[in-house]
Amino acid sequence: MIYNVHLADANEHFVGFYAQIETFGSDKIKLQLPAWRPGRYELGNFAKNIRKLKISDDKGASLDFYKLSKDCWEINCSNHQVIHVSYEYFAKQPDAGACYVSESLLYLNPVHCFMYVVGREEELFTIKLDVPKHWQIACQLTSANHTFQAQNFDQLADSPFFASPNLLHHSFGLNQTTIHFWFEGGVVADMALLEEQTRKYALAQTKIFGELPLTDYHFLYLILPDKFRHGVEHADSTVIAMGPSSSINEIDFYNDFLAISSHELFHMWNIKRMRPEEMWPYDFTKENYSRLGYIYEGVTTYYGDLMLLRSGVWNLETYLKSLASDLERHLNNPGRNHYSLADSSFDTWLDGYVPGVKGRKVSIYMEGLIAAWVADIEVLNQTKGALRLDDVMRELYNHSYKRGVGYSQRMYQELLENMSGLNFDTYFSELIDGFGHWEKYLHRTFELLGLEFFISENELGYLSCELKIKDNLSFSQKELFEFWIKRA
Ligand SMILES: [Zn+2]
Repeated sequence: MIYNVHLADANEHFVGFYAQIETFGSDKIKLQLPAWRPGRYELGNFAKNIRKLKISDDKGASLDFYKLSKDCWEINCSNHQVIHVSYEYFAKQPDAGACYVSESLLYLNPVHCFMYVVGREEELFTIKLDVPKHWQIACQLTSANHTFQAQNFDQLADSPFFASPNLLHHSFGLNQTTIHFWFEGGVVADMALLEEQTRKYALAQTKIFGELPLTDYHFLYLILPDKFRHGVEHADSTVIAMGPSSSINEIDFYNDFLAISSHELFHMWNIKRMRPEEMWPYDFTKENYSRLGYIYEGVTTYYGDLMLLRSGVWNLETYLKSLASDLERHLNNPGRNHYSLADSSFDTWLDGYVPGVKGRKVSIYMEGLIAAWVADIEVLNQTKGALRLDDVMRELYNHSYKRGVGYSQRMYQELLENMSGLNFDTYFSELIDGFGHWEKYLHRTFELLGLEFFISENELGYLSCELKIKDNLSFSQKELFEFWIKRA
């Protein structure tokens, strides 16, 4: 399938699409637009952004078509070798997962706006961008003359790109892989420092999984004028949207910039390669329910920050401050006493990514982080530092992705039990599938590590937290703490 993409009306934020489709003698073909995008497990219903859909034959005569669903169109194309499809897509959502067009930027996440022929998802996609000659393209797919190809729809859907005259590019080698930074809208002051720190945490993450399974990895940074924080993972790239650009070199902003970058890189293994079996493969047309958000988001959130500490990018003070703020979000969410982590994962398709009804749910990110932390400390404690969650994740990767299958809760539990020699039935029934047990597990984790947790409440009832290491640690606490933060 060949697509031409142009700036239809950049001022009004419309991108023009034109596709030429061979019919191969079919009387009818179905065109499908995805209903959601991987990374956000809720329906996006992208078809609502489409206007001026036209389908014609070689002579320009309109062909009959009608909708089979909100995002699937059936076309009568008997006696036509080729059909021509054109439409405009409204692109005015400058976050890390969507699309935005202006006079000087074409940023598309293809899963929003490219259609495929049902049953022909595996065909080659050629995308030609009609943008000014001097514009550069940042994308995990290699481009030449503003043209790139995807081997199938899955790959196209997973390959967001920036086309812009203002891109700043920096790259460096890491093992056999080239890491690329692309900056649009602003740039960090010290690129050498960012390279050095990225090297450290990327190598530490690589050690966990045993391989850096790609030739190129691209960080697409969209720096925005206003306060913003969002990242989305892809197989060989990530898009990270952050603002305000005026704060990019302030220490808190920069540390958060590193944290989100580390989180998204970890996803390259944990969700973009190994993935729950119910998302293997993705079905773009409907909900892909999974109860395993505590693995793909929770474990990733835990490791995103921890790897900055264990690779020496962050010091302990910075890490504990970030962990305390995560615990603060947990404590201020009354939902922790009413709904399980696994149910909250299943229901992202219902609840979306907004606060929603007070006290209804927990977060696969924050409570997922705590569940991962508890599991890591239990394995470390039981094996005297010989094994930890790192080893569980590497084996989960080997047992699922490397064998071409998805993973299940059973596989994860078996690995935790095999590594530690402990029974994790209660952990799963209380912490993953149950609710109301957080305090017990957190207190045990604090006690094992010799951490003190201080909570204060303001007049509005908001709880603030602080984490400190106890002054007089026992030998076992000191030992476990050292195992926990050991350099990777
Ligand atoms: Zn994530």
